[in-house]
Amino acid sequence: MAGKTIFKRIIDREIPADIVYEDDTCLVFRDVSPQAPIHVLAIPKKEIAGMDTISNDDMPILTHLWTVIRDIAPKIGLIDGYRIVLNSGPHGGQEVEHLHLHILGGRYMGWPPG
Ligand code: AMP
Repeated sequence: MAGKTIFKRIIDREIPADIVYEDDTCLVFRDVSPQAPIHVLAIPKKEIAGMDTISNDDMPILTHLWTVIRDIAPKIGLIDGYRIVLNSGPHGGQEVEHLHLHILGGRYMGWPPG
């Protein structure tokens, strides 16, 4: 990976972010360009570029990420459900090469997306 991604720079506190949750394994912060009234990003602190580079050893990290999302969702106002989005590669619309889950809600999320 060439240089630090913007998310790694957030992890390293080189640039600010509106962090709503943090532990040793992951970080959850508000998206700078929200696409819904509530839009946060959940990322592992480990530098995993995306879906294509997840390894079997990463599974405990990913499991942890999902349980964190489950637990923080009601605390950030996602009381009537929400959508989780993972963009993978160019056709998936992935811009930042650091694995991240978008958690969106606060309104009805239409279908189909994109
Ligand atoms: P993706 O297109 O799935 O790679 O999503 C990247 C997301 O990161 C976009 O929704 C951006 O708005 C968001 N983003 C980019 N830079 C920042 C930042 N400095 N702080 C918070 N969110 C960011």
